[in-house]
Amino acid sequence: MFEYAPAPESRSVVDIAPSYGLFIDGQFEPGAGSFKTVNPASEEVLTEVALAGPDDVERAVAAARSAFEPWSALPGSERAKYLFRIARIIQERSRELAVLESLDNGKPIRESRDVDLPLVAAHFFYYAGWADKLRYAGFGTDPRPLGVAAQVIPWNFPLLMLAWKVAPALATGNTVVLKPAETTPLSALFFADICRQADLPAGVVNILTGAGDTGRTLVEHPGVDKVAFTGSTEVGRQIARSVAGTRKRLTLELGGKAANIVFDDAPIDQAVEGIVNGIFFNQGHVCCAGSRLLVQESVFDEVLESLKRRMATLRVGDPLDKNTDVGAINSAEQLERIRTLSDAGSQEGAERWSPPCELPSQGFWFAPTVFTGVTQAHRIAREEIFGPVLSVLTFRTPAEAIEKANNTPYGLSAGIWSDKGSRILAVADKLRAGVVWANTFNKFDPTSPFGGYKESGYGREGGRHGLEAYLA
Ligand code: NAP
Ligand code: MG
Repeated sequence: MFEYAPAPESRSVVDIAPSYGLFIDGQFEPGAGSFKTVNPASEEVLTEVALAGPDDVERAVAAARSAFEPWSALPGSERAKYLFRIARIIQERSRELAVLESLDNGKPIRESRDVDLPLVAAHFFYYAGWADKLRYAGFGTDPRPLGVAAQVIPWNFPLLMLAWKVAPALATGNTVVLKPAETTPLSALFFADICRQADLPAGVVNILTGAGDTGRTLVEHPGVDKVAFTGSTEVGRQIARSVAGTRKRLTLELGGKAANIVFDDAPIDQAVEGIVNGIFFNQGHVCCAGSRLLVQESVFDEVLESLKRRMATLRVGDPLDKNTDVGAINSAEQLERIRTLSDAGSQEGAERWSPPCELPSQGFWFAPTVFTGVTQAHRIAREEIFGPVLSVLTFRTPAEAIEKANNTPYGLSAGIWSDKGSRILAVADKLRAGVVWANTFNKFDPTSPFGGYKESGYGREGGRHGLEAYLA
């Protein structure tokens, strides 16, 4: 048996300052307080960042308001130049940003380098291309920007969620106040520096670091015209309540509990790769993760056996090692949630399995886990775990698969594995999910709209559809 030698990416490609301010009106400024952000793989404090209070929210919204008129008055082709410039700087600095993202979030460098960063740049390139073509996008002959957009994002894809929000907002002529998640503020602050490097006019992008209270103060601010939120369904509900009855426009990208359906005619090896990618990519901290595996009964043994064999080869550990497949859980709080739900799975009678794997003693870690003997009544089949935990259910007929797949309050994504195109189309048509992947999973592209049904939220991000949320 050959062992892998360590292949660490160099940490020295990124300079993290001892402290960071809020990015308001083109300047870094102190906030009402400060908090620390840690590397979840080691619990080492990375730096201290400013905490935005109500006065800071006030100043940021005012800065975005004064920047709005000149920014929205620019010809689209001029705004596009800024977006293209930002996209190119992101590409030039992608190694530095990938290391930073892995340090602050815990995700493997292979993913931040090969998935997050290329997609971040692609989003800016894509929406740069739309900036001068808005009249031909199908939203009227003279579509207008909304004004100041308040954007609140989660910690699982910090820079990518920023790109999904900022790129379409700027392309359409809006200005932005963005709040990154408390545990992953750093890539947004580096993005602020990129805005300065690109000579983006002051106030067009403002970044307020802080916790939930900062997010709430921002979305409730009366000077905001548009709220875009990605995060949990619970917080999404609170935001919907606070925005109701105001003139603010709202899009919500919330949680999910996606079914990944494997039919008996599926190419099993390929399906197993897709199952692994569906739930263990990014430690399962993925809103559209394939967390409910539905396997046709006749191939259950074969699928489970290959899946376990494949899971035993996953390398869990140092996110900066280029051979790592599964990195650290983002926070102690999230680890606790994953543990609680997994324990509930065992208590409710499902059978739990993890490959033997040595977890580091420092930091937040959870071994890739699969539950079999799961029924629809189990909490692990209904609630979003947001971690590397897969629940396996079985079915006999396509009708049963569809019924089980749709038996969830969520509706963000789904996967189908089958050799028959006609079956894929027939099943996809009946799944109530915003994205349905066929013989693949977790594939993203800036040209493709993404969003949910039911408790997974409303509105679409990405593609031509993503422009609509920022245009009147
Ligand atoms: P979360 O607790 O809802 O937090 C999301 C963001 O909202 C964070 O920046 C958070 O700040 C902030 N926030 C918390 N309370 C708030 C309030 N009352 N008003 C305004 N903002 C508030 O979600 P999370 O645990 O970070 O992220 C995981 C969730 O996001 C999962 O449910 C996942 O499915 C979902 N998600 C959905 C998508 C999608 O596209 N549909 C994509 C990624 C993630 P703090 O971090 O500082 O608390
Ligand atoms: Mg952190």
